[in-house]
Amino acid sequence: MKNNNEQRPHAILIPYPLQGHVNPFVHLAMKLASKGFTITFVNTHSIHHQITKTKPDGSTANGTDDIFLEARQSGLDIRYATISDGFPLGFDRILNHDMFWDGVLHVFSAHVDELVAKIVHSDPPLTCLIADTFFVWTSVIANKYNLVSVSFWTEPALVFTLYYHMNLLTSHGHFACHDKREDAIDYIPGVDPIEPKDMTSYLQATDVTTVIHRILYKGYEDVKRVDFVLVNTIQELESNPILALQENQPVYAIGPVFPTNVTKPIVGSSLWFESDCTQWLNTRPPGSVLYVSFGSYAHCTKNDVVEIAHGLSLSKVSFIWVLRADIVGSDEVDFLPVGFDEEVKERGLIVPWCCQMEVISHQAVGGFLTHCGWNSILESIWCGVPLLCFPLLTDQFTNRKLAVDDWKIGVNLCDKKLVTRTEMAAKINRLMCGKSGDEVRKNVKEVRKVMENALSSNGSSEENLNCFITYVKLKTV
Ligand code: UDP
Repeated sequence: MKNNNEQRPHAILIPYPLQGHVNPFVHLAMKLASKGFTITFVNTHSIHHQITKTKPDGSTANGTDDIFLEARQSGLDIRYATISDGFPLGFDRILNHDMFWDGVLHVFSAHVDELVAKIVHSDPPLTCLIADTFFVWTSVIANKYNLVSVSFWTEPALVFTLYYHMNLLTSHGHFACHDKREDAIDYIPGVDPIEPKDMTSYLQATDVTTVIHRILYKGYEDVKRVDFVLVNTIQELESNPILALQENQPVYAIGPVFPTNVTKPIVGSSLWFESDCTQWLNTRPPGSVLYVSFGSYAHCTKNDVVEIAHGLSLSKVSFIWVLRADIVGSDEVDFLPVGFDEEVKERGLIVPWCCQMEVISHQAVGGFLTHCGWNSILESIWCGVPLLCFPLLTDQFTNRKLAVDDWKIGVNLCDKKLVTRTEMAAKINRLMCGKSGDEVRKNVKEVRKVMENALSSNGSSEENLNCFITYVKLKTV
């Protein structure tokens, strides 16, 4: 007798163990499951532990350990597995980041291999391996088990293209040229001339012996061998790099990959407890609040935090500031200026973490001071909120270029690299109240329309995803 699952594709999804990667992976899982896939979603023990212990009393969000329980109750076939990243739960992965990434580089694939071996003949059998581009083994493990190999890139296609052509950057002397070269890079296929300062920090850094560089070299060797690259971007916004990449292999823009109904998603993937901001926002006039967040990973200097605090104070604008306890590194505790809390208590809310989509979709929010994390940029466009850009590391420099120089949906926080309180207050006021704010607000609406079209039933992201699904289904028969 035929079983019901016979034609059902089954994909295993493995995000890189960072908040900005887990989020789009969760939503890709939901999307694929809603289109008839069986999904096995894999988190590391450590990420799982953090997600399921997000309440201050240590209880779990839905009373169980399974983050996909509600999704399954709504009819989706999403299974959940956790594996070790090679370190005990108590190991401080932020403080010992080099050791941690080195461990992930070397031991993680064995755990993935073991899990794949266990579920490859499950019901339905595994057909497809979708792993983060930062993993260096996707094609190898997929080939071993005869699976469709898919690399999911959670950053813009422009960033992907620059990494993809590291050899060209090296031969032209633009790789690792921090502060030594200013001439534009005008030879990367599909990339308009770009200044070296707009490359990711890893491409600029002069020390290229770090573990991240080893991950990039190996990851970008492997990605050239996968069957598909899926990118969390929008074809119409990045058509040149995408078309150029497609000369080499199938690369599909399927973004933005996040819950577009903006209500609380049924899968909680926050690594920290989300403070409620809605009650406070409800008391503020439309468009009056600046949301300030530097994402999950980036650090600022203590001086930057002090200048930002004074800038917020001088601007007289209302704000929500997501201030992670480790924002200036692990040992600094008292980094806010003395008396700041008292000074701004009438118009400022400081929280350690929140549900960002819920906050920026609130009508009271009129601007976003951001580190330019790619998810934050996509989410802000979706919510129609213009950006004040303060990139700190990795892809954020390139993302800033897209947002400010190309799409004109944001302004730079500082013209030089140094933040000053007066410049910051002036920029905040210009964004929130001035003419240039109106201009960028109008542009965000235009770009949002492009995004919305891409997600509509005949839109590019939807069609690209369907095309990918058709291929996987053919392989499943
Ligand atoms: N985020 C959140 N609450 C916060 C700050 C961030 O839910 O208080 C989410 C945000 O919505 C985004 C992710 O965390 O989906 C951060 O990803 P991004 O690429 O913007 O930055 P990263 O953390 O990777 O630097």
